[in-house]
Amino acid sequence: MAKILSGKEVVAALNEQLSKRAQALEEKGVAPCLAMVRVGERQDDIAYERGATNRCKRIGISTKNFILPESATQEELIKVIEEVNNDPSIHGCLLFRPLPEHFDDEVVRNALLPAKDVDGITNGSLAGVFAGTDQGYPPCTPAACMEILEHFGIDLNGKKATVIGRSLVVGRPAALMLTSRNATATVCHTRTVDMPSVTREAEVVIVAAGRANLIGKEYFSPGQVVIDVGINFTEEGTLCGDVNFAEAEPIVAAISPVPGGVGTVTTSVLAKHVIEAAEKTLAK
Ligand code: NAD
Repeated sequence: MAKILSGKEVVAALNEQLSKRAQALEEKGVAPCLAMVRVGERQDDIAYERGATNRCKRIGISTKNFILPESATQEELIKVIEEVNNDPSIHGCLLFRPLPEHFDDEVVRNALLPAKDVDGITNGSLAGVFAGTDQGYPPCTPAACMEILEHFGIDLNGKKATVIGRSLVVGRPAALMLTSRNATATVCHTRTVDMPSVTREAEVVIVAAGRANLIGKEYFSPGQVVIDVGINFTEEGTLCGDVNFAEAEPIVAAISPVPGGVGTVTTSVLAKHVIEAAEKTLAK
């Protein structure tokens, strides 16, 4: 039986530590604050906004919501982002994407200052992940994978790690973050030849392909640690990951479940980045 890498456990430990840091900031006169900028009324954005608001509140981070109608212009949205950039009482900003089609995503996301980019969406933040500097913040999802590995004491030093997926939000930054933790990282994608033979060789496998139950037993070998990033729905409407859990679990040493794994940890990582951003203002 594989050990289940429960996101809930990671969240409990993280939140306890973050609450203490938020309190220490308050005592020094800094009230950590997250701005959330949303265009339109997408139900998944609203659900994430609600989850992030509750999590922040419990930790001691206030939130400020900026909601624009779906018909808002790019200039109006950039004006809001500039307001966030210039407001010293706001430490971090979450911009909901994808934006409606009439927005130029590249222009809008890069209007945010990397110093307030707690969700790792700007090119400046991604450059920070690449260069190993603290300019900006890494995207929350691969950072949540690292939190899970760290919480459960999974040593990456010298380990072979394979990431399935090469998106800018998950796969690529995950591979860089593994490398900076001294793992030897390989990235698989849609053009990879004989992917199962690559993943079977790895000691740690992070799966972010975005295909329900795609990764079955032929991809795994005994002793592996598996992090499933996928959030998908089966034809019956059940939430599931990219990994076929029933096939992988009897083989591997440890696996993160879906639901209850990476997705659970993401908003706590967002809160962690806000606290870090607030602490940086204090250091200045
Ligand atoms: P994406 O579609 O942008 O990228 C998927 C990547 O997987 C691509 O690089 C593609 O080359 C690769 N891929 C797709 N099919 C493949 C296949 N058959 N074989 C090999 N590689 C394949 O998706 P994304 O934004 O990176 O998200 C990946 C998954 O993670 C999705 O299920 C998404 O819902 C989930 N996700 C979860 C969270 C979270 O908080 N847990 C956050 C973001 C994304």
